Amino acid sequence: MTARILVVDDVAANARLLEARLGQEYYDVRTASCGADALDAARAWQPDLVLLDVMMPDMDGYEVCRRMKGATTTRHIPVVMVTALHEAGERIAGLEAGADDFLTKPVDFETLLARVKSLVRLKRLLDEWRNRSAPMRGAEDEFVPPSVAGARALVVDDNEADALAVQDALARDGIVAGRAGSEAEASTLAAGLTLDLVVLSLSMTVDDPLRLASRLRSAEATQDIPLLLMAEPEQKGRILRGFDLGANDWVMRPIDANELRARARNQIRRRVYQERLRNEMGHAIELALIDPLTGLYNQRYLMRDLAARLASGRDGALALVMIDVDHFKAVNDRWGHPVGDRALRMVADALRGRVRLADSVARYGGEEFAVVMPGASLPDAQTAAERLRAAVEAMSFLPDGATPYPLTISLGVATREAGGSAEQLIAAADRALYEAKRDGRNRVATATTAAAD
Ligand SMILES: [Mg+2]
Repeated sequence: MTARILVVDDVAANARLLEARLGQEYYDVRTASCGADALDAARAWQPDLVLLDVMMPDMDGYEVCRRMKGATTTRHIPVVMVTALHEAGERIAGLEAGADDFLTKPVDFETLLARVKSLVRLKRLLDEWRNRSAPMRGAEDEFVPPSVAGARALVVDDNEADALAVQDALARDGIVAGRAGSEAEASTLAAGLTLDLVVLSLSMTVDDPLRLASRLRSAEATQDIPLLLMAEPEQKGRILRGFDLGANDWVMRPIDANELRARARNQIRRRVYQERLRNEMGHAIELALIDPLTGLYNQRYLMRDLAARLASGRDGALALVMIDVDHFKAVNDRWGHPVGDRALRMVADALRGRVRLADSVARYGGEEFAVVMPGASLPDAQTAAERLRAAVEAMSFLPDGATPYPLTISLGVATREAGGSAEQLIAAADRALYEAKRDGRNRVATATTAAAD
């Protein structure tokens, strides 16, 4: 999983060290040496994560974080505050400024990578929800991180005093937490309550906490509940085992209440985004953004999805493939519309089954289809389009139930370089599609080849 990481530190050597280490892990890294540069880079480059030094002249990390979280263009980017001292006061200030997590200097690289991975995953989920729901939300609706107040948690620890400290920390964010002192108690409570978080102590002695983790993950009612582990520094092996079993994050003892709060908030929000994503998809059908014949998105959704993706600050690759079924009129004329509809459904299923999860497939109208491919370069999209072409050609369409009839498609590919608006991009892909038709159908043409004509 690659991602863009902005490293902010006023000491150039610190920034370079992190840049080199993260670069080795194939992250795309940029550095900034002061608050003003960091804000500019966050706005213009749209990183997936910011590692932010607290102690800087001019503008300190708290102020940078406050400004990032106050601006609509940067509010959604996770911020990890890198604090020089292990001081609770610093973390409270960081939480109040809106920080998503903390690291203590000197930075332990293994811990850093785990934090980066966890936060980038959360960001991806949020991006997905924002992109998918953008066509349904107005452009003026800005993103506000959901509050965690009122969320329900269960703290599983046989040490009552330790559990109480965790319950108190969570209560400061309005999270209502109960306690279980044994596996049996935890299983009963988890099955009976709608929980948003389980905090599990790996230091339990009455039962094996990892067995409980495994049970939570295998039961349908509890398998999606975020699971946060609490561990002693020497329990690294147990933490890794816990991750194998499906734990989502951990905090090290002695527990820093503010670090725990940050991780708990992130995990609860991740669950909220996941649920929103599910609900928004249900909502799409209600808003008639789905084509009833094929179950694909319709043209209205496609236009809004494209416009939202093109307008988002991200300058990443994006491709559009326009598709037309060859000689479709002949099918309708010869066998009638019900058979024609069956052909369209078969083509739709073939397309849907061969695109990536991130792609949106729509029925553009009549026998025309379109696929939006976020992140795809021209060669990527060309390869993907060729796969779609071959898949349709390989179908066995039997219009009269016995004799196969060769159904094929022509495809036109364009990338966002072809134009700034959804209409321009569609026009470019359409021109390429026209060329594919002209050159004999059942083929892929690209907007660059069409332009070179
Ligand atoms: Mg500094």
